[in-house]
Amino acid sequence: MISTSDLVTLPKAELHLHFEGAIRAATAAELADRSGRQWSPTSTYPDLAAFVRTYESARDLVETLDDLRRIARELVEDAAAQGVVWSEVHLVPPTYGGRLGHDEAVLEAVLDGFAAGSGPASAAGVIIGVNRGLPLEAAGRSLRLATAYADAGVVGLGLAGDEAGFPAALFTDVFARARDAGLRALPHAGEGAGPGSVRACVEELGAARINHGVRAIEDPGLVELLAERAICLDVCPSSNIALSVYSSMAEHPLPRLLAAGVPVSLGSDCPLFVGRTVVDEYRLAIEHFGLGPADVARIAHTSLTASSCPPDRRDTALAALSRWG
Ligand SMILES: [Zn+2]
Repeated sequence: MISTSDLVTLPKAELHLHFEGAIRAATAAELADRSGRQWSPTSTYPDLAAFVRTYESARDLVETLDDLRRIARELVEDAAAQGVVWSEVHLVPPTYGGRLGHDEAVLEAVLDGFAAGSGPASAAGVIIGVNRGLPLEAAGRSLRLATAYADAGVVGLGLAGDEAGFPAALFTDVFARARDAGLRALPHAGEGAGPGSVRACVEELGAARINHGVRAIEDPGLVELLAERAICLDVCPSSNIALSVYSSMAEHPLPRLLAAGVPVSLGSDCPLFVGRTVVDEYRLAIEHFGLGPADVARIAHTSLTASSCPPDRRDTALAALSRWG
């Protein structure tokens, strides 16, 4: 029997987490009070549009660069409390529209907050996101920003938003340039659209990992390709249920992906909106999918080896993982 404290001490990385979706709940309530804004997120969403509205209302709570620093510091502190030694956090500075300052100022505030929260227990890097639905000019801004900070806290270029309406092929050039600059391609796919969208991220964007990717299961040839190339899927089961990708855990493909040899990490995606932490996701995978200690350790191992965690920190975590359980 694996206890919750075992799951907290399990050394792991969290590779699928959105900055505003990871605002500490008490902090979100405090920021809402300060501004007099309505803030009452639910935990289920009939469609992506409803989720996006909630996401944007959380972003609206952030009014200063100091708010960003605080949220970032608390994110790393909360990760440490979950036994997460390394987090990769999706951030899209252009979505602030310049209201807190330049994109660089937004990113630097987040990096400052991460540094303030970091220590031996935990640290974090940034995935600069491209929003599929914004004009290509915004993708160019994200690319330039990610490239400028490639050796200073940014680990990759992400892609999120309306997957069905704005296919990966629109961003081939942007991701080629990111890879040339030494950044990893870390797009979202296989959530709002099917396996073709996942395949496009692999073949056209050169994805190192895929955030979500779960609908790859609909194409056995693609599942084989992901296993062969060891492309990790950063899976968030509770988010998939909250956003109605699957109607129940019984339908969720996590156990089939694992059985097919696809590398998988577990993440919380947006704990503020879904109400679940990464430890909750491990617990859920044990309870719903019957995972045992070896499966849990394998997922944690994948999360560390598929990440951009600095080598010393990773080696220490892998050594601790070998002693876990
Ligand atoms: Zn996500």
